Amino acid sequence: MPELPEVERARQVIARHALGRRITAVDDADGWVCRPHGPGEIADALVGRELTAAHRRGKSMWCETSGDGPELGLHLGMAGRIVVDAPEPATPAWDRFTLHFEDGGRMALRDKRRLGRVRLDPDLNGVGPDAATIGREAFRARVGRGGAPLKARLMDQAVLAGVGNLLADETLWRARLSPLRPAGDLAQDELDRLRRELRAAVRSAVRLGGVHTGRLIPHRRRGGRCPRCRSKLSRATVGGRTTWWCPAEQT
Ligand SMILES: [Zn+2]
Repeated sequence: MPELPEVERARQVIARHALGRRITAVDDADGWVCRPHGPGEIADALVGRELTAAHRRGKSMWCETSGDGPELGLHLGMAGRIVVDAPEPATPAWDRFTLHFEDGGRMALRDKRRLGRVRLDPDLNGVGPDAATIGREAFRARVGRGGAPLKARLMDQAVLAGVGNLLADETLWRARLSPLRPAGDLAQDELDRLRRELRAAVRSAVRLGGVHTGRLIPHRRRGGRCPRCRSKLSRATVGGRTTWWCPAEQT
């Protein structure tokens, strides 16, 4: 499932390859992915314009458009990705939303599972500050409070945007903090360490291709051992999600 690093990579694809190209047609016929917009509504708003900038906060992404056009919101859902000038997929319908450019190229939301979403002027109220760029003071104030388990707090998108299940496990392992600790019980230096390791985990995942490249991730399985100290990993459901951690080091 796309987490912040996957969405950041999608944003970079748009920023590098899709900006400044004049849109001559839009396939917005998938009324589910484009809800609440009706077929043709997004096309009417975008044809003749260009994408001029690509932004991201957490897992939400949006593009500015030329000539005071609307913002184009793109959400990858559970399995979507952005492709630019790529050959058509085996099943053409997997491209749920497509911009056609004047130069003959195209940009598509490719999403076999159809859980992505496209909408004009997306509402980002309720989405917290981005996990990759949040400042130290804001991180302390937002994450370090309440009685919820630390992992659940980290994954609360209203508190902090972009951390999903795998990135949370990887970050807590890097920071040597237990996912079960009440968030409000952390000391300031622990919160600072957590933020530092979160940023480092995001940078690494963006560079290497996604959250699956994390050091803990391949060991999150029955019989898995900590890649640092070789202790047998613990497993529990925390915040509704399967969670793995090193009981020897994550305290
Ligand atoms: Zn360990």
